[in-house]
Amino acid sequence: MESFKRRTPFLTFAENLKVDKDWSRYLLHPVFRVVADAAAAAGMPVYVIGGYVRDLLLQRASKDIDFVTVGSGISLAREVATRLPGKPRVHVFKNFGTAMLHWQDLELEFVGARRESYRADSRKPLVEDGSLKDDQDRRDFTINALALSLNPEDFGRLIDPFGGLEDLEARLIRTPLDPDTTFSDDPLRMMRAIRFASQLGFSIAPEAFASLGRNRQRLEIVSMERITEELNKIILSPQPSLGFKILMSTGMLEIFFPEMVALKGAEYKEGRGHKDNFFHTLQVLDNLSEHSDDLWLRWSAILHDIGKPPTKRYEEGTGWTFHGHEVKGMRMVPGIFRRLKLPMNEPMRFVQKMVALHLRPIVLSEEFVTDSAVRRLLFEAGDDIDRLMMLCEADITSKNPDKVRRYLRNFKLVREKLVEIEAKDRVRNWQPPLSGEEIMDTFGIPPSKEVGLIKNSIREAILDGLIANEREAAYALMLETAAALGLKPRSEREGDKAPQEKKP
Ligand code: ATP
Repeated sequence: MESFKRRTPFLTFAENLKVDKDWSRYLLHPVFRVVADAAAAAGMPVYVIGGYVRDLLLQRASKDIDFVTVGSGISLAREVATRLPGKPRVHVFKNFGTAMLHWQDLELEFVGARRESYRADSRKPLVEDGSLKDDQDRRDFTINALALSLNPEDFGRLIDPFGGLEDLEARLIRTPLDPDTTFSDDPLRMMRAIRFASQLGFSIAPEAFASLGRNRQRLEIVSMERITEELNKIILSPQPSLGFKILMSTGMLEIFFPEMVALKGAEYKEGRGHKDNFFHTLQVLDNLSEHSDDLWLRWSAILHDIGKPPTKRYEEGTGWTFHGHEVKGMRMVPGIFRRLKLPMNEPMRFVQKMVALHLRPIVLSEEFVTDSAVRRLLFEAGDDIDRLMMLCEADITSKNPDKVRRYLRNFKLVREKLVEIEAKDRVRNWQPPLSGEEIMDTFGIPPSKEVGLIKNSIREAILDGLIANEREAAYALMLETAAALGLKPRSEREGDKAPQEKKP
């Protein structure tokens, strides 16, 4: 009866947890017993700490477990490894005084409790041995400082010096110490604060929020790679706009991503305004995130209108225009990727392609949908067509339900046409039915402008639906185009012989 009452919904989450001081029933995985026994044998106190405990209380599955011991984390890891079935290898990171091992699907990390002190010019602290409390003091947020004892006298006791449990219930990101100290010591924590808020749907405590704004310039001592790592986690969170709004309102976004800040605001002239492209972009990103957790597609949503601020014009009679913003945007992508230390290869090319093509399905759905327009879109998007369509559907943020209905209906039509045309013409992964080599061979010419002209005429005719996407039709057109260029096949020239097997 007692245990039933303890878990009734009449108690709040934190009350439930407070009554329920014994957390040993959450530590049933055999690994906790092994670590506890190894530490007891070595006479070293040991605790589960940090993100694993937080996620346990939030009922989020986690495979990374951090153990802190008062003593050497490396020797505890070695002792644990000898006791685990299969005796996993221990990876030692001497410089950090930590050791890590993989067992089953878990990643176990061991560290000795430490005390940290910081200097102004670096996020790397001076470190010395310390107590569990010292170690909790150096943690970034109250919800990340929770520890569970694995020691014989109080196995399963929650050690929560900063009220992390209450903050979990209040869904609050709060620093254990003065936030100005926490953030100035290691400014990466500012990005982490926003990342946790975004991932967990939590708010940032007002004093910490104000401190983010005050300390934003400290981001300068954080490497771009680490900032971007957190930014990508914000982007991959269930509702990424949460994180971006905080980045914007604290002034942090301006420091590393001014192009996105430039999207903000609506200008009015002669009573005509345009939408705020920052909030529009965030809505597109959230819409898309409901359907896809592809990081690069989400990046495409973030950047799809990035060319709008530099192409914005006010035209008498027409109002605000952003002509060519998709081309401008596509050209801006490499610079942004380079600065943010994002990969400059395939992912960047994919994002460029999405930005460049993002208006095409919309234009198609506004106009009469012709076969050749659909064929061209398929040709250009190739295998990325499905992701492009997803982006474009997410881009419908109109408040007018009639408009939305009409767009969606037309998009359905475009999708149907895409399937129909692909079945018929197979241009999605188009390979020219005649290669440049065959053209050169047929006419006995070297690589030249003429070869390009012939290839283009074949491609354009197929995309326009003038000829079928097949070898025979392409061969006939090749002969025709070549004749217009004054070229004759070798077979028709005296003394020359075209290779017979290459004919259709
Ligand atoms: P996730 O696994 O989602 O990244 P996490 O909280 O486990 O979340 P880690 O980066 O693995 O994140 O860090 C583990 C723990 O180490 C954190 O819970 C926190 O207690 C502490 N920690 C990590 N980075 C910092 C930091 N920059 N400053 C202070 N404490 C930190």
